[in-house]
Amino acid sequence: MAEETIFRKIINQEISTELLYQDQFVTAFRDISPKAPTHILIIPNKLIATANDIEIEDEALIGKLYTVAKQLAKQEGIAESGYRLIMNCNQDGGQEVFHIHLHLLGGKPLGRMICS
Ligand code: AMP
Repeated sequence: MAEETIFRKIINQEISTELLYQDQFVTAFRDISPKAPTHILIIPNKLIATANDIEIEDEALIGKLYTVAKQLAKQEGIAESGYRLIMNCNQDGGQEVFHIHLHLLGGKPLGRMICS
């Protein structure tokens, strides 16, 4: 059984953050430590710890993360200039919070996909 993370408190609005989107399935808010002028996290309200834990029944929910991301990119004015959507998984992927989230990054040229 996966353990709840700080993101549950954000979903429940128990800690203050700039909520950009919320419905019964998905919540989006600004990353506390932005790596680009736009850095938004889009998360399912349901706890799924890592990409490895996504089940067939979650397919529509995962799709919704992307449609919300697209909408927010437009809202942020970066849809045309471009952006990057990333989901990190486990240690080598650099995952720190074990509640899956899509990073929406943009607002500047992001360079190579992976910096070694
Ligand atoms: P990851 O390394 O993919 O697990 O990303 C976790 C992200 O969550 C990092 O970019 C953190 O800056 C961000 N983060 C952690 N705590 C908070 C918080 N309370 N509010 C907003 N973003 C957070």
